Amino acid sequence: MIVCYELSGWDNNSHMTGSCEKIFPELIDIPKCEVCGYRTDYRYHNPNFKLRRKAFDYSSTYDNITIVSNAFKKFCEENQYDNLEFIPLAKAPGFFQFYIKGNIIEYTAHRQENLCSACGLYESVIGPGIDLEKISEPLKDGFYQSDLWFASGNEKSPVEIIAPETFMKLKEKKFKGTGGARSIEK
Ligand SMILES: [Zn+2]
Repeated sequence: MIVCYELSGWDNNSHMTGSCEKIFPELIDIPKCEVCGYRTDYRYHNPNFKLRRKAFDYSSTYDNITIVSNAFKKFCEENQYDNLEFIPLAKAPGFFQFYIKGNIIEYTAHRQENLCSACGLYESVIGPGIDLEKISEPLKDGFYQSDLWFASGNEKSPVEIIAPETFMKLKEKKFKGTGGARSIEK
């Protein structure tokens, strides 16, 4: 039984906040930890963000921020997925920074490295896995996110998850960039 799908956007060749190791120096207001130096808010919006590849409806920056097209936003509104945020990109009209609010699913990590006692985040979180013990049936139509942030440094963000029904609807729309969805079975 497929309980959900993990979505991962195709690479749009862009950075929202900087590299894995270094935040853009001009982003003076970005929430970050004083001790480890990594950002502590994956939803932060850089008003000067430049989207270098605009071929996709759903894509991801190198620092794991999801960018969607207007068509994708419209699809979500038509389906009344109301826990989603779309921030217009001033420098890329018709595209939006996208994140999921609430609907948190418990994950476990294969490995976690270098816990920062100041911000409570690990430097690296490797091998995301949904905690299937807590799930007994396919998720209901909609968007979900993992409780843990995966990957390293400033590139950590939650995993984006959709229900099987949502996956079928997305597939029907033939959106560009959602093809990397991975089914999770129980
Ligand atoms: Zn820290």
